Amino acid sequence: MIQYSLKCNQDHAFESWFKSADAFEKLQAAGMITCSLCGSTQVEKAIMAPRVSTSKKKTPSLKSDSSAAEQALKELRKHVEKNSHYVGRDFVKEARDMHEGNTPERSIYGEANPMEAKKLIDDGIPVAPLPFAPKRRSN
Ligand SMILES: [Zn+2]
Repeated sequence: MIQYSLKCNQDHAFESWFKSADAFEKLQAAGMITCSLCGSTQVEKAIMAPRVSTSKKKTPSLKSDSSAAEQALKELRKHVEKNSHYVGRDFVKEARDMHEGNTPERSIYGEANPMEAKKLIDDGIPVAPLPFAPKRRSN
């Protein structure tokens, strides 16, 4: 097994395991490697920024900070998608039904406009914004 740092054409960095360098090349050529953030198949091996301590140029630490944040976001997204039920535009209705005891309590996520979200909070229904756009499912 070999781990590669990968990057898609949207500049998302992520890591993935492959059986071998050869297997990676084949999957890449077949367009079977997808970005875990946006689903793009335009994925290539990330060029590793070498850390050379003798370099006179100061390397800004922003890069590693932003990828750590991206990683945290990715983890959160994974957690939400795994543990919550996506209800899309029915979010407001679902949240209200659940609050009023019409449907069993469960974790849901979906879409609501700021007005709708505010109304839910005003009515004492706990909602929190997600730091990412929900993946739309086609059903
Ligand atoms: Zn991407």
